[in-house]
Amino acid sequence: MKLLENKVALITGATRGIGRGIALKFAEHGCHVAFTYVSSEQKAIELENELIKYGVKAKGYKADASVYSLAEQIVDEIVKEWGSIDILVNNAGITRDGLLMRMTEAQFDEVINANLKSVFNYTKAVQKIMLKNRKGSIINISSVVGIKGNAGQANYAASKAGIIGFTKSVALEVGSRNIRCNAVAPGFIETEMTHALDEKVIEQWRQSIPLKRGGTPEDIANACLFLASDMSSYITGQCINVCGGMLT
Ligand code: NAP
Repeated sequence: MKLLENKVALITGATRGIGRGIALKFAEHGCHVAFTYVSSEQKAIELENELIKYGVKAKGYKADASVYSLAEQIVDEIVKEWGSIDILVNNAGITRDGLLMRMTEAQFDEVINANLKSVFNYTKAVQKIMLKNRKGSIINISSVVGIKGNAGQANYAASKAGIIGFTKSVALEVGSRNIRCNAVAPGFIETEMTHALDEKVIEQWRQSIPLKRGGTPEDIANACLFLASDMSSYITGQCINVCGGMLT
């Protein structure tokens, strides 16, 4: 059964890792997919080609998610060309790790802008069309680090905790219009973001997880599929941990 037949989704940061996994899963379920990225042009073209194999429309936009005017422009363009936006996944994110003692102001600002301000930008931009339609599902990708903290990631943890507060507040504001807003908190998901770590550190991570493995982009995509579809029509304002039991 296809769960998102003829819906339109916008996913930020989908050329790699988790965003890419979500785009493919949504397309497999009949969803037209618009997505953004910041630099990987070739990967964006490859993803478009993979998505259209599912018989859906697909389009990549090169746009830094931390820039509000670009969010408005892209949303307007999608609505003009494809008629609507039913699902927004705020996935774009970066890390600039370091102990607070060494963290620069630029490293803090960059992470807050790419991870948290981007969520404001795209949520605000899609709100208009979702309010008009009186339906919509917004999914914000947070992190277990936003819930429990992590040494060396004060900037990242702050951005991801901020996303949870933002999600809960938006859910309260738009619930009466049948718009749902939820967060997903991935644990340790093996992507380019985590492969920047030492293999020994990665193996330690795997062993510390109750399910004894890192997660895959598909593990996160499945949770997003559930939250995007009518299967979760009575769920809003929640943060679902998809972390192999890292948080209990
Ligand atoms: P990734 O492999 O590094 O991919 C990041 C994606 O976001 C890429 O498509 C990148 O585009 C895009 N991107 C980065 N900055 C952007 C910006 N300013 N504007 C637009 N697009 C931007 O990361 P990932 O591991 O899949 O992580 C995806 C999300 O899950 C992030 O929010 C991350 O914080 C969260 N998360 C990940 C893990 C994990 O273990 N991997 C755990 C918890 C939460 P380009 O290819 O053009 O650079």
